[in-house]
Amino acid sequence: MNTNLTHEVAIIGGGAAGLAAAVTLARSLRSVVVLDAGDPRNAPADGAHNVVGREGLAPLDLLAAGRREAQQYGAEIRDDPAVATRRTEEGFDIELAGGSTVSACRLLLATGLTDELPDVPGVWELWGKSVLHCPYCHGWEVRGQRIGILGTSPLSIHQTLLFRQLSDDVTLFLHEMPEPDSEAWEQLAALDVRVVSGRVERLRSEDNVLRAAVLEDGHEFPVDALAVAPRFMARAELYEQLGGTLTEHPLGRFIETGQMGRTELPGVWAAGNVSDLGAMISVATGAGASAAAAINADLVAEDAGAAVRALSPGAP
Ligand SMILES: Cc1cc2nc3c(=O)[nH]c(=O)nc-3n(C[C@H](O)[C@H](O)[C@H](O)COP(=O)(O)OP(=O)(O)OC[C@H]3O[C@@H](n4cnc5c(N)ncnc54)[C@H](O)[C@@H]3O)c2cc1C
Repeated sequence: MNTNLTHEVAIIGGGAAGLAAAVTLARSLRSVVVLDAGDPRNAPADGAHNVVGREGLAPLDLLAAGRREAQQYGAEIRDDPAVATRRTEEGFDIELAGGSTVSACRLLLATGLTDELPDVPGVWELWGKSVLHCPYCHGWEVRGQRIGILGTSPLSIHQTLLFRQLSDDVTLFLHEMPEPDSEAWEQLAALDVRVVSGRVERLRSEDNVLRAAVLEDGHEFPVDALAVAPRFMARAELYEQLGGTLTEHPLGRFIETGQMGRTELPGVWAAGNVSDLGAMISVATGAGASAAAAINADLVAEDAGAAVRALSPGAP
């Protein structure tokens, strides 16, 4: 099947950023389509936190509510991943996995990022439950518990200090991180953080409950939660297809944007984790709304130019 649809704006990605943008654009009477693959980054978590008015709601319920809000203003939502995109004279053609093509004048990429997790058996299975990365997303849920930190870079010291704010029982596993410097050793000692040398070989769990980190030498250290540092890799293949380049960052890579989400590519905006690796839900939501306002303003300027030209057909 090959259905051609024309919209003013296509939003690729129906997470917090994409849906916020859809609401803003639809409320501006723009014809907008959201194309979504349906796997938001925080799907493994039980609840979405730090979301005003919706605190603790299950991530998929939060997005279901966002979809209803966008649809109520006329946004179209399609559960069909975008697999390819190309520039056309009027804007963009977007090919969907289901075989159809959507065309739009402007493009907002809100595809999020992929968390590349450390290659330690057990980490993936417990990700988003007792294997964590963000003290603000799920730190409160593990407060006061035995928290381990899997050291993978010098930034693991910072992560240790953040989780130490939430528990008196924190263990830093040096694992693959470089030897801490003297200032870090001083801080760790002053805060009573236990430091364990050697590589963590695997995590031991029972019935999906984390029990211990097991070192290569067989020693086991009981922990209730383990903080890890994923690499944050923007889902930006479509952006690269259009000729965009990604920016490297110590924590991963992302689409660099200017004010209100404008990218280096004309007609293309980006919002949420795809362009801001550290954005929590509320930040991604704000970025989506902000990019939507910029896209609407761009279309308004284009519409005004076209109206003027229509009145004076001979003018350039
Ligand atoms: C385990 C975990 C728990 C978290 N908990 C919290 C929390 O409690 N509070 C908080 O503020 N933040 C939390 N976060 C961060 C939160 O997930 C992000 O802030 C948020 O998901 C960013 O929204 P987004 O719209 O940019 O991306 P996403 O929510 O990841 O949405 C991107 C969407 O784009 C879709 N997509 C990707 N590629 C395509 C494509 N080619 N075609 C169509 N669709 C596509 C995806 O399927 C997805 O639906 C958590 C993160 C993790 C990993």
